Amino acid sequence: MKAERIDGKRISDEIKDEVALAVESLQQQGITPCLAVVLVGNDPASAVYVRNKKKASERVGILSRTYELEEDTEEDELLHLIEQLNLDKGVHGILVQLPLPSHIDEEKVIFAIDPQKDVDCFHPLNVGMLQTGRKGFLPCTPAGVLALIERSGYTVEGKECVVIGRSHNVGKPTAMLLLQKNATVTICHSKTQNLKEVCKRADILVSAVGKIHTVTADMVKEGAVVIDVGMNRNAEGKLCGDVDFEEVGEVAAAVSPVPGGVGLMTVAMLMENCVTAAKLQHGIL
Ligand code: NAP
Repeated sequence: MKAERIDGKRISDEIKDEVALAVESLQQQGITPCLAVVLVGNDPASAVYVRNKKKASERVGILSRTYELEEDTEEDELLHLIEQLNLDKGVHGILVQLPLPSHIDEEKVIFAIDPQKDVDCFHPLNVGMLQTGRKGFLPCTPAGVLALIERSGYTVEGKECVVIGRSHNVGKPTAMLLLQKNATVTICHSKTQNLKEVCKRADILVSAVGKIHTVTADMVKEGAVVIDVGMNRNAEGKLCGDVDFEEVGEVAAAVSPVPGGVGLMTVAMLMENCVTAAKLQHGIL
């Protein structure tokens, strides 16, 4: 492969080191950031994500509390827990691991989290802050995408960026962050005509679809930067992204791998948001 393999491990470690310094400085002011993670049910993937978040918190000096609730937990019980965490001055960030069991209304749960503690940046108030370019939380995965690009030495300003995927949590906010960095942005989705031609225009191509082989070498412009957000399992059950990594690597200038790319960044950016949350709540920001 000719392309640079974008190193999510190095960049996420770099960010976690910076967060650890910020935590140390807060501790000197008597503040220790604390993240509450709520897990409902027994989804094995969710359990892994929650463990990773706990591990990352320990590494950077953020306190973490995990609340593990049964699969059949009533919606009201979960909302009550969130209310308590909202009021708890010792908790700065609240993260409810999604997806929730189908009998619980996810939107209601997201809306219930105090926006100042919404470290996932899913609350509509924080989404609005992002849209209008105001200071606040950045959504973790999109912020991770941007950090991967910029910290690998690529600039976004003036570039033609194509984002495949328009979900509320990944595609749309990724496009918004790229736009705020003065890129010219196109968003593609399942109804996009001529996906290949649109992608081929991209200096920076981000795939957030969740399907193997979404991005093949013939869709990529020579010298493009390709960021793979997708997390899929192949026929052998191995974790892989949306992008044909090796073949695209023959055309692109840089490609982010899965695993070892965006996934690591998401957790690092969550840590950064916990520090932002603690600062916000102590009037430091
Ligand atoms: P999602 O809500 O299912 O959205 C997928 C998007 O892809 C939709 O906008 C859909 O279009 C579009 N799409 C589907 N098939 C397409 C096709 N053939 N051509 C073009 N666009 C197509 O998924 P998501 O939550 O955004 O997540 C996307 C992927 O990122 C998943 O693999 C997920 O596991 C992964 N992810 C990774 C991280 C991480 O930390 N690395 C974090 C979050 C998500 P329509 O809108 O028209 O349906």
